[in-house]
Amino acid sequence: MENITVIGSGTMGNGIAHLFAQHGYKVALADISQPALDKAIQTITANFDRQIKKGTADENTKQQALANITTFTDVKSAVANADLVIEAATENSDIKLKLFKDLSEWCKSETVLASNTSSISITKIASVTNNPGNVIGMHFMNPVPLMKLVEVIRGYATTDEVTNRIMDLSEKLGKTPVEVNDYPGFVANRILMPMINEAIYTLYEGVAGVYEIDTVMKLGMAHPMGPLHLADFIGLDVCLAILNVLHDGFGNPKYAPCPLLVNMVTAGHKGIKSGEGFYQYTAGSKDLVVAPKFARG
Ligand code: NAD
Repeated sequence: MENITVIGSGTMGNGIAHLFAQHGYKVALADISQPALDKAIQTITANFDRQIKKGTADENTKQQALANITTFTDVKSAVANADLVIEAATENSDIKLKLFKDLSEWCKSETVLASNTSSISITKIASVTNNPGNVIGMHFMNPVPLMKLVEVIRGYATTDEVTNRIMDLSEKLGKTPVEVNDYPGFVANRILMPMINEAIYTLYEGVAGVYEIDTVMKLGMAHPMGPLHLADFIGLDVCLAILNVLHDGFGNPKYAPCPLLVNMVTAGHKGIKSGEGFYQYTAGSKDLVVAPKFARG
């Protein structure tokens, strides 16, 4: 697999492009939005500068990697030569199903089509393509250049050959791939989201405040970040969407999103991306200030 196309140049797409380009792959990075592509190149450049400062990359690696990336607003042209397409577009079932139907027409028949979806069924995505055996989940974690895990999700029809190729490729990129089957939330979000939801219920029921809940989980369970801070980081809208997938997929009330989470998302409080969630975020500041709604005393 030499020619890689990444579709979607947001938070995850730019990280995936960065990773492949740094490992010497030619990357076509496609997005329907030119401003999103411009921002992605700026982010990749800034992230390389951070790596250079830390001594984990040098100027030459940065220049070579940036030269490996070509941007496209026309997705069809971007996938013409692709051996592997990694889709990291918006987490919306309609968008992904339309995209994979088109990809199946536009790509070579042997092209492997991977999705970085956090929660949408790989089997469902594969069902709209001509070759479901070539469709697989390649779930990177944020931030992609730093996080070691790739959750490799086998759809119902995914072949052994495609799974093995994606496992090998992930290792070549310096990651640790883990193979899982395609059921709602896969493994990562099936375990993480109920924990976050329970933390929100704990706050909603007045058992403890934001600071107390996050401190218990950080100091008591050695989590690097408390669950409410993590929810702000992931995006409260994303957490809600994944909980709805778990709730619909299993039909089990234990996955019902906490009403407080629903209210916050409806009010536009989505965490870091909107400037306020359980904490307030000031540009450039790393200090965590509990949002006024949840401040005690
Ligand atoms: P994002 O909103 O930051 O970026 C999505 C990008 O997709 C946007 O730039 C948008 O313009 C583009 N896009 C939308 N429709 C498109 C289309 N038809 N063709 C080409 N580009 C299109 O989203 P993100 O956070 O990077 O998430 C992308 C995917 O990765 C989602 O499936 C998400 O569930 C998954 N994911 C996200 C995280 C995370 O922490 N953000 C972690 C793991 C997986």
